[in-house]
Amino acid sequence: MDLPEQVIFVIERIHAAGGQAWLVGGSVRDMLLGRPVQDYDIATTLRPDSIEGLFPDLRPYTAGKRFGTVSVLINGTTIEITTLRGEDSYTDSRHPDRVYFISDIESDLARRDFTINAIAYDPLAQYGIVDPFMGRHDLAARVIRTVGDPRERLEEDPLRMLRAIRLAAQLGFDIDKCTWQAIKRLHPLLDKVAFERIRDELSKLLLSPCLAAGFDHLTSTGAINMIFPRPGRADLSPGQAGIISGIDPVLTVRLAALCFYLYPGKSDTEIMDMLKSLRFSRAEAKDAASLIRGFKALLTYDPEPYNIRKLLSIIGQKDMSSLIVWYAEAARAHNSRRMSDRYSKIRQMYEEILQNRDPVSLKDLAITGRDIINAGIGKHKPEEVGEALRTAHDWVLHNPKLNSRDKLLEELLRIYSH
Ligand code: ATP
Ligand code: MG
Repeated sequence: MDLPEQVIFVIERIHAAGGQAWLVGGSVRDMLLGRPVQDYDIATTLRPDSIEGLFPDLRPYTAGKRFGTVSVLINGTTIEITTLRGEDSYTDSRHPDRVYFISDIESDLARRDFTINAIAYDPLAQYGIVDPFMGRHDLAARVIRTVGDPRERLEEDPLRMLRAIRLAAQLGFDIDKCTWQAIKRLHPLLDKVAFERIRDELSKLLLSPCLAAGFDHLTSTGAINMIFPRPGRADLSPGQAGIISGIDPVLTVRLAALCFYLYPGKSDTEIMDMLKSLRFSRAEAKDAASLIRGFKALLTYDPEPYNIRKLLSIIGQKDMSSLIVWYAEAARAHNSRRMSDRYSKIRQMYEEILQNRDPVSLKDLAITGRDIINAGIGKHKPEEVGEALRTAHDWVLHNPKLNSRDKLLEELLRIYSH
């Protein structure tokens, strides 16, 4: 297996200090699958103080030291080095309540969530793979299975239920039957899990290649009701799940679509508040709400260039393109002639607007507030300056050819005589 030299460097240094070291977790899993590795986690017999002392030249990051983790950044790659450990329950924080350091790798692997995440690999040893729970077997069979009894392991940390669903969607794996049944039975325990942890898994899930399968697991196990409480419990239909999986893999866009289908009756401000309570950032919640507003506009407005330009001026080109893809997916899922005709129209108008570089935003306008003031508008009523600017903007949204300084000022002066 090909490893970056930074990883070899770290492992060699640990060996030189008399410690043992293994790559563990997602990095081993992804390497065995031939997938790109996101981050490298190393487990070691050395204690956190010794790890920190080993890399004085790299100024190790020690925020996780209490839990045994010291990180180093080498040439842009972050490597987390964690002392072998066992742990108690996770009640509600992001870290286990209590950890204790141990010295054998197998016990460290035993606390891990799934067999495919419980493989260790020492690249410097002759036969370096440690795989006590047959993780490689499950990798080959493409199955997510808990290490040990599913009920015990999911009760111990209910977030693992969402992790199972997320990993299945990310890797295109099945969930082992006993593990799945335990999720179905225990999903109410998810209400004990910190929102931040749920948000992180949900975010990864929403960007997964097999998202539709992920939604299927979320609804069939009932887990979705613990993340998105709905009194009526109307579930996401397979058609809706398909729409969301077909749209741009951008977190806020997929979140917006998910909320739009789960909460058809809620206003976009209510959805924004709900997303904030799920610990999404204010900016993410706002963006999702504006996408929902935009999508509703696409569904209802007459497909005219003015309306498209106006929407574009409000939400910007990136979100607008995403909305149009969303609309196309919805038209396809509903198999609706009317929607697909409208889609073609909207799409064509949108492309023309971009091609012609029609002025859409206030910034594209040929005049500024300063020009309006200099023309003498608003001398007695200052609020007229902003009003005139908005009026001119609206004219240009109707007719891009009007966007010249002289024409706009001339027209404005006709209305705002001074
Ligand atoms: P990703 O590709 O998303 O990083 P990952 O498997 O690396 O996936 P991390 O959250 O980075 O996931 O966790 C690293 C490793 O720590 C996991 O592979 C697993 O062995 C262990 N782990 C993480 N979370 C838990 C948990 N809640 N319970 C038990 N073990 C866990
Ligand atoms: Mg990881």
